[in-house]
Amino acid sequence: MKTVVETMTDGVDEDGILRAGEILRGGGLVAFPTETVYGLGADALDQEAARKIYQAKGRPSDNPLIVHIADWEAIHKITEELPPQAKLLADTFWPGPLTMILKKSAAVPRATTGGLDTVAVRMPDNAVALALIRAGGGYVAAPSANTSGRPSPTTAGHVLEDMDGVIDMIIDGGPVQIGLESTIVDLTGEVPVILRPGFISQEMLRGVIGPVEMDRGLSSQDPAVHPKAPGMKYRHYAPKAPLFIVEGEAGRVRQKINELTVAEHERGHLAGVIATDESLGFYEHAAVKSIGSRTEELSIAQHLYAILREFDLMDVSVIYSEAFEMPQLGAAIMNRLMKAAGHQVIEV
Ligand code: AMP
Ligand code: MG
Repeated sequence: MKTVVETMTDGVDEDGILRAGEILRGGGLVAFPTETVYGLGADALDQEAARKIYQAKGRPSDNPLIVHIADWEAIHKITEELPPQAKLLADTFWPGPLTMILKKSAAVPRATTGGLDTVAVRMPDNAVALALIRAGGGYVAAPSANTSGRPSPTTAGHVLEDMDGVIDMIIDGGPVQIGLESTIVDLTGEVPVILRPGFISQEMLRGVIGPVEMDRGLSSQDPAVHPKAPGMKYRHYAPKAPLFIVEGEAGRVRQKINELTVAEHERGHLAGVIATDESLGFYEHAAVKSIGSRTEELSIAQHLYAILREFDLMDVSVIYSEAFEMPQLGAAIMNRLMKAAGHQVIEV
């Protein structure tokens, strides 16, 4: 298959959107930019189209897809029951990086929801994405546009690395703004529960709807306690080289990473280091990359996946990363980094 690339870095191109919408209506696959990461879109109400997404990504079929809408009214067709919190959250955070889990209606095929009775819904904050959803019929199922297990794509180039020749079209809208997937909040139980941390933090949600819990399965070390979002149980975002997170007081972290990279160098290998603008100059005998500045949380979120992909293109034998405990985005960044590292942590 030839994958067409449509460039829309300067905004919506109406002709291109019409062509992309036709592909979606015909059951095809179009990757597109959102504010979080690039999505791999298909008609969410067409089970054959949804199945193609699983095939293209190599995604396990029990891992449900998020349905993207462009207008609030569209939610009624795909949900059975709308708790009052849904409207409150939509009024505050949509369009934006928040996904809500709700009871699904019969209009949504189980191929889209991974067999579940619930559906994940989001309205992305990106003009190209919104135009595409409308042109494609109003309901676009879209997981991240990466091969399953690889870091999520934050540029159209990343999508091409994984999906060239596999999907019909990629819309290049330039680099994304946030760089981490949406926060997922489950509204089907008595108390809303965060199933995946993201840009919209627990505190931000509490400010609008009161008590909100964090899924215990996200942080539990007990292998019997599973995360509630099926996708969160899989190893994700994994770079090719083993990744270790070094945690502790900043000075000791730097010292420990230096010892480790020097030892790797003496064995004749090259280690990679995920540093920050503040610590970049401290490391020796390693491939050192800055992920962003500690004074700007968003810069760290934006570059996490790109940096993991960059290390994949280099011949590093191991990667060491500093930890990023930060006020708003810390939970989301550390959740993704821990998954990428397969929870390998070195405490100093
Ligand atoms: P991605 O689209 O790649 O960001 O992954 C979507 C995430 O949403 C996965 O972790 C899914 O498990 C989760 N998800 C989607 N639909 C549901 C649902 N109905 N219930 C729980 N989690 C869901
Ligand atoms: Mg994903």
